[in-house]
Amino acid sequence: MKLTVAEIAAFCGGRLEGDGSALVTSFFTDSRKTEPGMMFVPIRGENTDAHRFIPQVFAAGAAATFSEEPLENPAGPVVYVENSRAALQKVAERYREQFTIPVIGITGSVGKTTTKEMVALAVSAGLRTMKTAGNANSQIGLPMTVLRIEPEDEAAVVEMGVSMPGEMARIARVAKPTLAVMTNIGVSHIEFMKTRENILAEKFKIADYLPAGGTVFVNGDDDLLSTLESTPEKKIARFGLGEACDWRAVELDADVYGTRFVCEHKGKRTPMYVPAAGEHNVRNALAALAVAETVGVEEADAVRAIAQYEPPAMRQQILEANGVTLIDDTYNASPDSMRASLKILADMRCTGKKYAVLADMLELGDYAVRGHFETGAFAAANGVDFVIGVGPLSKHIVEGFGDAQNSAWFAANAEAAAFLKAHVQPGDAVLCKGSRGMHTDEIIRALSK
Ligand code: ATP
Ligand code: MG
Repeated sequence: MKLTVAEIAAFCGGRLEGDGSALVTSFFTDSRKTEPGMMFVPIRGENTDAHRFIPQVFAAGAAATFSEEPLENPAGPVVYVENSRAALQKVAERYREQFTIPVIGITGSVGKTTTKEMVALAVSAGLRTMKTAGNANSQIGLPMTVLRIEPEDEAAVVEMGVSMPGEMARIARVAKPTLAVMTNIGVSHIEFMKTRENILAEKFKIADYLPAGGTVFVNGDDDLLSTLESTPEKKIARFGLGEACDWRAVELDADVYGTRFVCEHKGKRTPMYVPAAGEHNVRNALAALAVAETVGVEEADAVRAIAQYEPPAMRQQILEANGVTLIDDTYNASPDSMRASLKILADMRCTGKKYAVLADMLELGDYAVRGHFETGAFAAANGVDFVIGVGPLSKHIVEGFGDAQNSAWFAANAEAAAFLKAHVQPGDAVLCKGSRGMHTDEIIRALSK
């Protein structure tokens, strides 16, 4: 991206003070990451008001800044706006309008980043593709992502996350997706949205911003998403394992690392392999193929690309250490993704015992006790031999598992790791998962030694 400060002011309707010809190549919110050419977006947070860093970012070479309040003798150009975040969104919205490329918006409760990666991989088999870096899916991350689209790009795959009512409209207006993918409707952020139906309604707002006749690809195996029907304005296409799916996976044959299957679409049968464990990754691969074909990528190229997929670190990575199979899913956790990972453990063919090390899931609000308890019950119903809880909330997981003989609880990762080291035998499988704040990757590191 290359915009002058004057253009930025015009895009967001802000008042420019200072040199409007200064060139801006990107935006940033973290004052510690100042680099020349960047424009600062000061956010008023609960604890800190980033406006106080404005002198610092200019000293470090920032090209310009937004400001919601009058500044005395700023050391560079300022665009005065009512709200910095809204201004950034407005600039990105106008920037997006210059491009006529396919933009694929990925939303859902879980699996957005995984699906984004797979879709981007499949689409890049035919088109130069820009994708969201990491997890930048928020009210700030999404506009920043859109502003990274370059004139040479032929497609963009963007992750879109929402946690509060009203957020989808704001980011979908910016991204203007031409196609959308919805992975599932779970219980993440239910503390702000109250019901799954509300979560569905909020996420489905993405459809309002598609061009006429645009397609929303939905997980046809999700009880709520499968109720969506095509209308004259919006086409719904379903992917999944169920009979009603337009892109349907059949003849699944899983190994430890992934699944071989056949994709059936309009009577055509396409053999595929997705090198990532779990049925949900079969769905992610179907979504990737469906989108890639829809934007004109050769099917064979997309299929080949999907077969090259590499799961990112700490996300259901299957590792092997001292004869023990480790499922490292320590990046994050919610009740929905806990179930997905427990299923992987359940489907795993191992000669020994199956251990599930399940740490606290944070940010569940009122749902916390129930969410943990039900996760434990799900583990019990899916063939887990031994459950280890880590952290205060995980006591409810152990309770839900309901087998005191075959469970243990620890306050800290180090204690859980020591227990596992003493008990796990070659041939066993160990799933390790928890919210990012629980740092359960420490346990994987200890077991990998
Ligand atoms: P965030 O809200 O943090 O951005 P996300 O929606 O991007 O999360 P991912 O990071 O892709 O989700 O995946 C989180 C976990 O969810 C993965 O480690 C895996 O356990 C699981 N997962 C991946 N894809 C799916 C899916 N389609 N359905 C259910 N679970 C999935
Ligand atoms: Mg994500």
